[in-house]
Amino acid sequence: MFEPTTYVGLDLGGSRLKLVDYRQSEDSFERVGSFPIGEADEMLDCLDSHLSELAGRKLAVSGIGIGVPGLLSPKGEVLYSPHRPELIGIELATEVASRTGIWPVIWNDAACAAAAECVKWGDRSVLVANFGTGVGSAMARSGTVTAGGSFAFGELGHTGRYSKARCACGRIGCFEETIRVMLPMGVDDDSELHLTSKSSYGDAVELIASVLHDLVLVLDPHELVLGGGLMARLDQIFEDVSVRLLAELSEHRRPISVRIHKAIADEYSGAMGAALLAARRVGYE
Ligand SMILES: [Zn+2]
Repeated sequence: MFEPTTYVGLDLGGSRLKLVDYRQSEDSFERVGSFPIGEADEMLDCLDSHLSELAGRKLAVSGIGIGVPGLLSPKGEVLYSPHRPELIGIELATEVASRTGIWPVIWNDAACAAAAECVKWGDRSVLVANFGTGVGSAMARSGTVTAGGSFAFGELGHTGRYSKARCACGRIGCFEETIRVMLPMGVDDDSELHLTSKSSYGDAVELIASVLHDLVLVLDPHELVLGGGLMARLDQIFEDVSVRLLAELSEHRRPISVRIHKAIADEYSGAMGAALLAARRVGYE
């Protein structure tokens, strides 16, 4: 007999797709894998083969959640995605539904990562900042992702004017583009991200800490989570940014200092949160 309690969560990054299964009846996750993805439509092929595999195991899928790096319309159309330009203008939800028969829940990838943190932090507020191919951030409060007017509350990637570099979004000096220039990332033979140069490492740590300090003061979260491939793979930058950020706080703010953590499921947090949103285990407002 089919057990209709499996939700599939996908997180499409700049170079890889993370995939998890969430079994709602047991409230448990299975990390299916991390797959190199060239063009975004390979994600749909990957999803197809995973659904076939689940059907072979007599596991019915009740929902699909997808995190994508970009700005989405309420209908699930990708409006803007510097790292996945091939998705722009595509009604991804319609495409997935026509192939799978399931209308998916599609969210910005940072918001999905914030949804995953809801499981751990309950009614506390948590700000998530992810550093990988791009920079993304989002917030959750009381176990609910904060949507904002355009489902992008707390997003800092395309703010500021920190350099003269032109960002993929068209602006000059965005935080994301400035960090990308300071900390150039490469993709190795396994499509894993790594730093290709640390020549501006100190400046990058300083800038990240300074920008996060300001965001923490504006949004006042109980917890700050530093996620994404860069933070998951390089303990040093997580430690250095954390120390620098706390040092940046003024003396009167230190006693109520924000607590800084790594992501709940490292690079699988986005996929985990996407599945939780699909299962309505985590909501939004
Ligand atoms: Zn930008």
